[in-house]
Amino acid sequence: MEGLKNIIRDVPDFPKKGILFKDITTLLADAKSFQTAVDLLGHRYIDQNIDLVLGVEARGFIVGSALAYKLGKGVILVRKPGKLPHKTKKKTYKLEYGEDSLEIHLDAIKPGARILIADDVLATGGTVSAVIDLVEGLGGHVVECAFLAELEFLEGRKKVAPHGVFSLVKF
Ligand code: AMP
Repeated sequence: MEGLKNIIRDVPDFPKKGILFKDITTLLADAKSFQTAVDLLGHRYIDQNIDLVLGVEARGFIVGSALAYKLGKGVILVRKPGKLPHKTKKKTYKLEYGEDSLEIHLDAIKPGARILIADDVLATGGTVSAVIDLVEGLGGHVVECAFLAELEFLEGRKKVAPHGVFSLVKF
């Protein structure tokens, strides 16, 4: 796991001053690291009766689709407003300054479906909490929220509780 941790690049002051951005593009670009990461996540969920993997725009699409392929399941998308073409459900949530929204197709989830949420980094947990609301609003069951990396000091895990969080590496 130390290898996966070291290959994630730190970018200071992005997207604004004071933020240390964990850039996972360096992990994705390294064949062995990407394969290891997806294999480890796949191993965790292969026996969990997952119906669908949900990828969160945008880096979550990469993690989510690779993981869905590994599990032999389909992938569904949560996107920024106005991007999904069919009828959608929207969730607006608070950011540090202002607010943001996410959308899902109304027919993406059948009631009772077991959903695995995938994204690159768990920070404050605001984004994934909104995604959980969308899934549950459509009657889905969130099995767990899976991340490549977690910023533990931001305590996103607490915000997401009682839903489970799993991250491959912790900072
Ligand atoms: P959150 O605060 O958990 O809602 O994080 C929102 C999204 O922003 C996550 O999906 C991450 O992809 C991204 N993000 C937030 N903070 C960072 C960070 N320090 N490094 C990399 N990505 C981040």
